[in-house]
Amino acid sequence: MSTIHFIHPPGYKELTWNKKIEQAALPKRAALTLSQHTGAPSEPVVNVGDVVKTGFLIAKSKGFISSNLHASVSGKVMAIENHPHPVVGFFKAVVIESDGQDEKAFSSSGRDISGISREEITEIVREAGIVGLGGAAFPTSVKLNPPPGKKIDTLIINGAECEPFLTCDYRLMIEKPKEIIQGIYLIAKTLGVKEVIVGVEDNKLDAIEALGSALFMVKREECRVKIVKLKTRYPQGGEKQLIKVLLNHEVPSGGLPLDIGCVVNNIQTVFSIYEAVCFGKPLYERVITVSGDCLKEPRNLLVRVGTPIRDILEFCGLDTKSDAHKIVMGGPMTGVTQYDLDAPVIKGTSGILALSMDFIAKGRETDCIRCSRCIEACPAGLMPCMIGLAASNNRFDIAGPYDPFDCIECGSCSYVCPSRIDLVQLIKLTKVKLKKK
Ligand code: SF4
Ligand code: SF4
Repeated sequence: MSTIHFIHPPGYKELTWNKKIEQAALPKRAALTLSQHTGAPSEPVVNVGDVVKTGFLIAKSKGFISSNLHASVSGKVMAIENHPHPVVGFFKAVVIESDGQDEKAFSSSGRDISGISREEITEIVREAGIVGLGGAAFPTSVKLNPPPGKKIDTLIINGAECEPFLTCDYRLMIEKPKEIIQGIYLIAKTLGVKEVIVGVEDNKLDAIEALGSALFMVKREECRVKIVKLKTRYPQGGEKQLIKVLLNHEVPSGGLPLDIGCVVNNIQTVFSIYEAVCFGKPLYERVITVSGDCLKEPRNLLVRVGTPIRDILEFCGLDTKSDAHKIVMGGPMTGVTQYDLDAPVIKGTSGILALSMDFIAKGRETDCIRCSRCIEACPAGLMPCMIGLAASNNRFDIAGPYDPFDCIECGSCSYVCPSRIDLVQLIKLTKVKLKKK
């Protein structure tokens, strides 16, 4: 990956650039799926009929790579049952009927954190169920607790938000810059790093300015925070790509950022760490962008985890009875098409898009014409056409040498392919097949 390849899809961010973050209505019923993070699903610690407050622990992490789950509304547990899931179809969920009171299970008054230790911060983050909010939903406490022998010297904060349509991180940067800087200092203290780099693309100059000003307003800590303006291009927000752009270091094939002394956290994850450490708030809500050309009112919303997609789309002016739309959870490049609008927002949901036929690839898939555009577009330096060819011929055994596990599933190859071959889906399938072997 000595040179990274990027593409420049249209951004469509102007639909929500100027939309301030608004609190979405509380859901009448919140369905909190037990699988909304990387790793083992969480284990319920409530029973049907229990009465819970907002922020109450309802399911515990089960293993090192797992996460706690908290009630996102106050009310009564009505069921623990299979429920539509936005990524895997169906999964067991704790369903809570809201009493409309939103009574909190935590005090939410600010606490003195001046003498807080690294261990205490990591434990608060673990207890609060915080996961990476850029989409991967990897448990954050694991990132804050590198294995013995792995020395972290650089913390990178991912403010690229390179996926088209999404502006939720941008809005957080301009609306909550001081809180984000405080969150950065907390993470830097936990990891013991002296060097922090915040990467923000140059289509968000006011976010760069807001964070820069906040640096002077927040009490300085021992580390140095540098805010770096990046060119706008896709997929710069991939961890490995961001590290290469900012440090010119390469994460080895099959390796992790911590193998080269880096930890990467997304802007919204930083904000949720600030809220958990300073106010004791578990992760039960997040900011998402709701956008697309089928909505009367695209918005940036603070949404409770477990809220049905249908409620959010209706709030933004979509007639959900019409079928001339494609509904996507996430962005258009990496998002997942939704077929059941009862599926809920999960911790990793960065956006919901309602798109017309204009945004859907037209025409039939045809044979590969060996144009190599997918190779030229791949930020991981792979040969997507070769993996796709092997997969479409059911020869997963010969796909291995083309390093499918280095694929970050950015979708650039599918986007540029003139034969409309859905390469990223073929690569995802290849990974599943090879893992099973
Ligand atoms: S989806 Fe994977 S193979 Fe395709 S361009 Fe992105 S990293 Fe490369
Ligand atoms: S971009 Fe499509 S047509 Fe071109 S080489 Fe890749 S798979 Fe084949």
